[in-house]
Amino acid sequence: MNPIILLIEDDFQIRRFLRASLVTQGFDLIEAETGREGLALAASQVPEVILLDLGLPDMEGIEVIKQLRLWTNTPIIILSARGQERDKVANLDAGADDYLTKPFGVGELLARIRVALRKAMPAEEGKPEAMYALGNIKVDFERRLVFRGPEEVHLTPIEYKLLAVLVKHRGKVVTHRQLLKEVWGPSYIEQNPYLRIFILNLRRKLEDDPTRPHYLLTEPGVGYRLRVD
Ligand code: CA
Repeated sequence: MNPIILLIEDDFQIRRFLRASLVTQGFDLIEAETGREGLALAASQVPEVILLDLGLPDMEGIEVIKQLRLWTNTPIIILSARGQERDKVANLDAGADDYLTKPFGVGELLARIRVALRKAMPAEEGKPEAMYALGNIKVDFERRLVFRGPEEVHLTPIEYKLLAVLVKHRGKVVTHRQLLKEVWGPSYIEQNPYLRIFILNLRRKLEDDPTRPHYLLTEPGVGYRLRVD
């Protein structure tokens, strides 16, 4: 059984491009041209991943996200036009999982879909990981230890929590707001400077070259992403 992907996009060219790319990669693609049609297909076809254009003829993408999130956790990847940073943040905070900025390459799209599909697998849900390895970095969640190569890295409790949240959402962008909420709590969601400082500290401790991070990536104006490839 091929994974089903629902594409909600009114631009014919982009639909044609994505159809060709995804079908050759072994996905079943279903398509909607409007938000309303997309919502109906999401309910009737139960796709594994939803790709959502923000500028739809009948409704805003964010409305589609809000309506979907009333009843489903299916990963939603936004397809947005350039220069919509604020939109991206609002849409991610409304419950979307990730975004791609047009024009994007097939490789990038497939990588995001793989991350989304991994999240969608029910076996992973609710079962805490004991150990996570990424390149030369290793996180032992049971003992709360972090290693870089053979060396143990000493993280403060906040740094550890921040890393753990990024690992939990690995491969996808996590907004400033989400990070502040998950690490510090809901009353800190407007306190961005803290976050920047802790990310810099984490990079200093984990990256080979903290000024050119390989793992802890900045998504300008949006948040951070832990690179997994
Ligand atoms: Ca559009």
